[in-house]
Amino acid sequence: MSASQQTIFEKILAGEIPCKKVWEDEHTLAFHDISPQAPVHVLVIPKTKIINVSHANETQSEILGRVLLTAKRVAEILGIATSGYRLVLNNGKDGGQTVDYLHCHVLGGRSLGWPPG
Ligand code: 5GP
Repeated sequence: MSASQQTIFEKILAGEIPCKKVWEDEHTLAFHDISPQAPVHVLVIPKTKIINVSHANETQSEILGRVLLTAKRVAEILGIATSGYRLVLNNGKDGGQTVDYLHCHVLGGRSLGWPPG
């Protein structure tokens, strides 16, 4: 893949674009969203590229699980584990996905309405 085809999250993973990191381990990276929609708005991405859930396969179940476990850890680190939080995976065009690299939004720090707009 050429550099021009890389998503913004691959550039963040490569250290080419800075981010405000919350957590990093062997499998995942979590960082603050550049345009927060709640007092806490963090993105969790796997270090192995998956475009979105629709593109995930059986061999990637551990990666998907690790994204969720990192989201849980982010909520604990940022103090919203008890008050509650929302995990969102926008999937495809109608799902509102704008970056074609799987990411889980961790939103919290205020009461979140439902359904989303
Ligand atoms: P999506 O709409 O694809 O579910 O979410 C993409 C998210 O990535 C958006 O919430 C957007 O604000 C965030 N985002 C886009 N570019 C950057 C960036 O360069 N840095 C960070 N930290 N977040 C970004």
